[in-house]
Amino acid sequence: MTGTVLVTGGSGYIAGFLIRQLIAEGWHVNTTVRSLAREAEIRRVLAVDDSRLSFFAADLLDDAGWAEAVAGCSHVAHVASPFPAAAVKDAQELIRPAREGALRALRFARDAGVKRFVLTSSAAAIAYGHPGRTTPYTEADWTDVNHPDSYAYVQSKTIAERAARDWVAAEGGDIEFCSVNPTLVVGPILSADFSTSVEAIRKIVAGALPGCPDFGFGVVDVRDVADLHVRALNAPNMAGERFIASGPFLTMVEIARLLKDRLGADGRKIPTRKLPDFLVHISALFDPMVRQVIGELGKTRAMDASHARKMLGWVPRPAEESLVDTARSLIAMGVVRP
Ligand code: NAP
Repeated sequence: MTGTVLVTGGSGYIAGFLIRQLIAEGWHVNTTVRSLAREAEIRRVLAVDDSRLSFFAADLLDDAGWAEAVAGCSHVAHVASPFPAAAVKDAQELIRPAREGALRALRFARDAGVKRFVLTSSAAAIAYGHPGRTTPYTEADWTDVNHPDSYAYVQSKTIAERAARDWVAAEGGDIEFCSVNPTLVVGPILSADFSTSVEAIRKIVAGALPGCPDFGFGVVDVRDVADLHVRALNAPNMAGERFIASGPFLTMVEIARLLKDRLGADGRKIPTRKLPDFLVHISALFDPMVRQVIGELGKTRAMDASHARKMLGWVPRPAEESLVDTARSLIAMGVVRP
């Protein structure tokens, strides 16, 4: 299928790969950025056919620009949402733009006659605030935002997806809504301005950690996340669907060992020993970001992505390939000096 699709947040990591794939498949893409001052730089990074990409200024917290951005679009991928590298003082700094932005994008999409709306949600809306469990999480699970595990970003993604689904049920009209819920997104970076999710890999390869804290992530490649969005935009009968986008759950030690094995001399700074929990607790006293993830220590959050495989024929690449490509592109871009 082709036509015009709105991808929100054109400056972002996932949006960049999604825009590239959509244009390669023949779509015209409208994209939003907070300021058009970034248009030239983003065009340079994406290196796509310029005539197939149009930019619009729109902020998640303001109505201005949304009607123009979505005019003529049959499909929307709402990707933009705050994903900061640092902890925030007030959770509302993330919850407001995540929730209001999703509702704003939906409202303007419905009013413009959009048929399909794909929300980039997150595993954060699924796998937090549950009593410890060993079985993988599925699309039937929802994060409990009132649990101490649920830090501000986790709350923002859960509240936004819930609000979007409630709004669609009450006021969405004919719009077909579904979500893609990725775990930690890694893979090649497009520029030195990369997503928070790549930061964990940067720290490992740069030798910025004295050891590996005892936690881990479901890992998924940005190219596969983009591909799953495209499938969710194209496939029939998507109303209400939810798709986990994840590969295997890997601990930091497993990621570090894999990278050290594969990178040769470039992996010389990678620490592969487990950092004792008490040292992580001490650094949490000084570092709000570490404090935020202290609840992750010792936890496993495996995710079952079989729904996307079965319903959409989604086949993600091996995690090893994604992690090595992440590290190599960080080195190639000069972000990490091995
Ligand atoms: P990213 O590179 O930081 O992209 C976030 C995008 O949201 C940027 O384009 C940013 O614009 C935009 N944005 C933030 N606040 C905004 C506001 N108030 N108004 C307009 N735009 C705003 O992160 P990403 O990894 O690509 O994440 C994209 C989406 O995937 C997010 O919804 C995130 O929650 C979700 N996700 C990411 C991961 C992951 O591991 N990366 C995993 C699961 C889900 P600026 O450039 O102007 O800041």
